[in-house]
Amino acid sequence: MADNIPKPPRVRFAPSPTGSLHVGGARTALFCWLYARNRGGKFILRIEDTDRKRSQEELSSEIINEMRWLGLDWDEGPLFQSDRFEIYRQRALQLLDDGRAYRSEPDEDGATAVIMPVDHGDITFTDLVYGPITVSGSELKDIVLLKSDGSPAYNFACVVDDHEMGMTHVIRGEDHIPNTPKQILLYRALGWKPPKFAHLPLILGEDKTPLSKRHGATSLRAFRQDGFLPQALRNYLALLGWSPGGDREIMDTAELIKRFSLKKVSRKAAVLDYQKLLWMNGQYIKKSSAGELVNALQPLLAGTEWEEVPRERIETIVTLLGHRLKSLKEFAAQTGYFFDRDISYEPEAVEKYWSGEGIIELLRETRKEIALLDSFTEDDLEKSLRGLIDRLGIKAGVLIHPLRVAVTGRMDSPGIFGILLLLGKELVLERIDKALEYLHLNPPPESK
Ligand code: GLU
Repeated sequence: MADNIPKPPRVRFAPSPTGSLHVGGARTALFCWLYARNRGGKFILRIEDTDRKRSQEELSSEIINEMRWLGLDWDEGPLFQSDRFEIYRQRALQLLDDGRAYRSEPDEDGATAVIMPVDHGDITFTDLVYGPITVSGSELKDIVLLKSDGSPAYNFACVVDDHEMGMTHVIRGEDHIPNTPKQILLYRALGWKPPKFAHLPLILGEDKTPLSKRHGATSLRAFRQDGFLPQALRNYLALLGWSPGGDREIMDTAELIKRFSLKKVSRKAAVLDYQKLLWMNGQYIKKSSAGELVNALQPLLAGTEWEEVPRERIETIVTLLGHRLKSLKEFAAQTGYFFDRDISYEPEAVEKYWSGEGIIELLRETRKEIALLDSFTEDDLEKSLRGLIDRLGIKAGVLIHPLRVAVTGRMDSPGIFGILLLLGKELVLERIDKALEYLHLNPPPESK
């Protein structure tokens, strides 16, 4: 029979615009999207903006923009529940007419809510993740359909829309499990077949309490501003409660789509491990071209001194720094020394690399060597400084580390020759002079 052939699924993500899009919502959206894409179905975006007081248009557009940034696209929508109040009203009136709902006592303004009584029978459904769940109707309160201000209650609007929009699967956070029996009663009252339900495990912070503001930035906006790449976040979020099995972790989107299945979604709460996310971001940064990284970086640099720097130079610096970055936010913090201005020295760098015997002499010799260079290419620089290192009979690091502190002020940096090149001869000599001045005023102890 035609009924036995599974139809491509229709899955929706239905955020309420009462706040920014957070990790939990983004994970739900991603799982819905992966499921639809894996099965050749449709992904629908529905904005549940029924709470006129709190729902804000800006939050709706922020959610939509962050979903786009994350790389999720939808086949239908965004549909707004605020455009559909008449539909909910009609359905509620129908239930009143059928004698399946009643009106509440009028409130002080004489307004009434529409409510559906609940009978005592058991309600059972099979969750695609958690398995069979049974709730006794006697545990439930009567279900509000329309509030006295005429706006629909969440459960009612959700059921009307999921039915009218032809949803086959409702995939959402496990915090909605208590709503599902109520929604099933609504389907029954309206004479409709309920969709399949799949609830996703909770997301915890590292201290194993439910993820919240206390755990720091958890909105997508914050992750974007902190320099995470969308493809890295997508990969990481996919692993919050799902795994394809084995120890496969780095997966591009095509592979996520190919492997995703609800069968492999865990019932166990997932923990957001910020260090792991940073590590994964670093992996994606390594894989990206300098051009891609600068594209992602540019919005973060708006309004900073980097805004004026030509793209080409930023690209060169990004290439130099590339594999050292775990997030793009570190870029500005690690590169201030590329601007022509006084730099400050990290105290631990001074202590570690400027305290050896003969440090002043060594920097003087280095300065002389660099001053002699007519052509200032990376090769020339490397050749002349390696020559000096050989003549002095020292290890390369003995010269390179103090020189790095002189020109960057930092304990560590990308390859020194690339940095010298980008700074240019004049600035390099100026910085070595400043370092010598500093060391005259703050002489290092005689020996280490
Ligand atoms: N608007 C609800 C929420 O944001 C949607 C729940 C559902 O997917 O049914 O939690």
